[in-house]
Amino acid sequence: IRRNAGEPEFHQAVREVLESLGRVVAKRPDFFDDALIERICEPERQIIFRVPWIDDAGKVQINRAFRVQFNSALGPYKGGIRFHPSVNVGIIKFLGFEQTFKNALTGMPIGGGKGGSDFDPKGKSDREIMRFCQSFMLELHRHIGEYTDVPAGDIGVGGREIGYMFGQYKRLSNRYEAGVLTGKALFYGGSRARTEATGYGNTYFVQSMLGTKGTSFDGKKVVVSGSGNVAIYTVEKVTSFGGKVIAMSDSSGYIVDENGIDLKLVKELKEVRRARISEYLRIKGDGKGVYFVKAGDGSIWDVACDVAMPSATQNELTGRDAKTLVKNGVIAVGEGANMPSTPDAVRVFQEAGVMFAPGKAANAGGVATSALEMQQNASRDSWSFEQTEGRLATIMKNIHDTCYATADEYGVPGDYVSGANIAGFVKVAEAMRALGVI
Ligand code: NDP
Repeated sequence: IRRNAGEPEFHQAVREVLESLGRVVAKRPDFFDDALIERICEPERQIIFRVPWIDDAGKVQINRAFRVQFNSALGPYKGGIRFHPSVNVGIIKFLGFEQTFKNALTGMPIGGGKGGSDFDPKGKSDREIMRFCQSFMLELHRHIGEYTDVPAGDIGVGGREIGYMFGQYKRLSNRYEAGVLTGKALFYGGSRARTEATGYGNTYFVQSMLGTKGTSFDGKKVVVSGSGNVAIYTVEKVTSFGGKVIAMSDSSGYIVDENGIDLKLVKELKEVRRARISEYLRIKGDGKGVYFVKAGDGSIWDVACDVAMPSATQNELTGRDAKTLVKNGVIAVGEGANMPSTPDAVRVFQEAGVMFAPGKAANAGGVATSALEMQQNASRDSWSFEQTEGRLATIMKNIHDTCYATADEYGVPGDYVSGANIAGFVKVAEAMRALGVI
């Protein structure tokens, strides 16, 4: 704890994994030799750097940026880049730690890493975003590469930012190394279905989970927090499976539409106009089952639903929120975001018998499809949407079945948190043992 002082999210993520491993000790004592646990909790490399850039007024601005290369036992470091004012080294370490086990669960040859900056993209002009991305890459480019470390997007980093970063990497390296970044647009090496993958993947996972109890999304009321990349494509897939999404949010508040969220409008607001979610109400008009609640005046988790899919950010769903959801009859929770439920909330769900899919497993579809993008880049190929989505669906079913079977094998049937942590850990630990003490 002293070595990682002031990093509560990192402690939270590590504690959750280690708490699941008690049952592994008896079966595989060899995993606990040679300080393997200490090594698995210590990033292989952490890079912290200054990003100076010039705003539209000609003033010099400074941000701090990070890349944490957590574990490369299974392949090159792989994980997104986050631009958000809340970013610090502890947040990036928690995300890199989670990513290591998530990536192992996908079955693809990728290690774990994460990066980002405390840069706030909100309210910045397109030129400012470009100048920031270029300055960020001016330092990052020496640490990444197709065989070393392959970043992607995350909060605040979408196709536009990946494009600016890729352009700068190409210029600095004098190489068209498509496999150095994922989440690229289709016309310069991106993969079909990557944009949709995390939201679609979470929906596939929850559909499998509901299937274990003989039910499905059909006819269910669903609440999806956030209105970014993950949230939007969760709503799209849930709707195609017959579910009705009635609420979405952003950091300014949440919108409820009892008739079912109009996703075309949300896409226009968020993907094209980069507007606030409250605009939804202004356009749809008051009443008729549509209303907006400002952040601080209530929680999106007060809205009664059958399935909750938190898809905004870490620790957004508290113990209190979980109690409200349980009281209102929630039967399943699928985490689209990374660690959106606090430990208290997870406990409430598990004690109430709510099916709970942890982000580490349920949101792995994004990185799995990034690995498919790397495969296409390596073979200079481009697959159809159907083929790529088909691979994604199979991967998500395998992840679900692995978590389910592992929970059974270790005597905690139905506990997807333990199932995911144990299955991910076993894969990473097996590889680390084979590679020796490094
Ligand atoms: P986006 O930036 O596209 O969207 C994030 C959404 O969450 C926005 O609506 C944003 O609102 C809201 N949000 C972010 N921070 C906060 C906060 N502190 N309080 C309230 N709302 C907040 O990001 P993504 O959709 O890509 O990522 C969402 C989550 O999913 C993250 O936890 C990310 O790590 C995880 N994830 C993403 C993957 C991907 O492929 N993109 C893969 C796996 C996990 P506002 O615009 O107002 O800030």
